[in-house]
Amino acid sequence: METITSSKQAIALEEKYGAHNYHPLPVVLSKGEGVFLWDVEGKRYYDFLSAYSAVNQGHCHPRIKESMIEQLGSLTLTSRAFYNDVLGPFEKYITEYFGFEMVLPMNTGAEGVETALKLARKWGYERKGVAENQAKIIVAENNFHGRTTTIISFSNDANARKSFGPFTDGFIRIPYDDISALESALSQEGVVAFLVEPIQGEAGVYTPADDYIRKAKEACASKNVLLIADEIQTGVARTGSLLAVCGNCTCQGHCERQESYTKPDILILGKALSGGFYPVSAVLADKEIMEVIKPGQHGSTFGGNPLGVKVAMTALEVVRDEKLALNARKLGQIFRSRMTKAIQKYPIAKLVRGKGLLNAVVINDTSESSTAWDICVRLAENGLLAKPTHGNIIRFAPPLVITEEQLHECCDIIEGVLREFSK
Ligand SMILES: *Cc1c(COP(=O)(O)O)cnc(C)c1O
Repeated sequence: METITSSKQAIALEEKYGAHNYHPLPVVLSKGEGVFLWDVEGKRYYDFLSAYSAVNQGHCHPRIKESMIEQLGSLTLTSRAFYNDVLGPFEKYITEYFGFEMVLPMNTGAEGVETALKLARKWGYERKGVAENQAKIIVAENNFHGRTTTIISFSNDANARKSFGPFTDGFIRIPYDDISALESALSQEGVVAFLVEPIQGEAGVYTPADDYIRKAKEACASKNVLLIADEIQTGVARTGSLLAVCGNCTCQGHCERQESYTKPDILILGKALSGGFYPVSAVLADKEIMEVIKPGQHGSTFGGNPLGVKVAMTALEVVRDEKLALNARKLGQIFRSRMTKAIQKYPIAKLVRGKGLLNAVVINDTSESSTAWDICVRLAENGLLAKPTHGNIIRFAPPLVITEEQLHECCDIIEGVLREFSK
């Protein structure tokens, strides 16, 4: 292997030998610890992307690392052709943790979404009595649920879809955060589920009305339609509660679900479920739904492997023991209040929105301009890594282990750059 001694060299290799399916900021990282990342030249950065919220627990968390090393010494993969001695304990742990009866483990987020779609369709045919091949699933405009052919079939992102057809049928797209649009879609024949993100992360941290998910669940329940919550990005403490569907409950998952909690029929988790160590996703549901899947009808060679599920259990323990949801809630309020003030002074930014430590600042420029990108390049020069999302929006999502002092330092950096761009 070629040894990397400079950022330029690493970027040249990726440019030449790797598919160009991403457009990274020109920073080459080689080390991470907690809220920090270091590039190959040794420059330190605050991480304000957290691998799209996969490292809520902070980079290379020592406890998760220990647990992974321990498991590496005994068993990594058996496939599901046999039982293994970690999967059962994991299944008990995660279902109790999130309050569901059963779980189906997969690896990536997109696989979790595919699993939920298959589960909902099969439930629709076998339990609801929908005519074969007629099942419909409602989705929201500007959704992001992953990159498989079926998932892009119901996306309205032209760049994600162009030249990848033909697409999978059976989806109805409605505006996000619009209960009456949902109600009218629910009256169509054959609807089995509504798939939704409680906050649309990739769309630019679009945060709906506080009661949107609760009302969506009520509307779905009245038509015997499943509510599928994609919490791959919002879940695992990111938005200041264990799940975004927990509303304002701060229990860290210990409570007898409080009033603000809306239980989805199917919950999809990924990303921070394993704290960034290993791809682990999970689909949770109660027995009545999960039992429609029989042997041979769904699976994955790596899904439920002992290494992944051991890591996931420890990653969830860390979330609870370190009270990451409470920290996200408290520091998120500080972040938004500082940014709200900054926006009044610096006209280059026009809006801050979000929940917990999933936030975005909307830049005051056209969606085609490169201003958000240029601001992110400047932030990186000043030691803070963030990335624009769709249009001119910058997402700010640090690891949830960030301290109040560190957050203030980061707000100073961001404000300094907004000031520069407002001149
Ligand atoms: C990241 C993400 C996915 C896809 O997860 P992958 O692991 O990248 O396949 C799906 N849904 C949401 C909301 C996401 O943020």
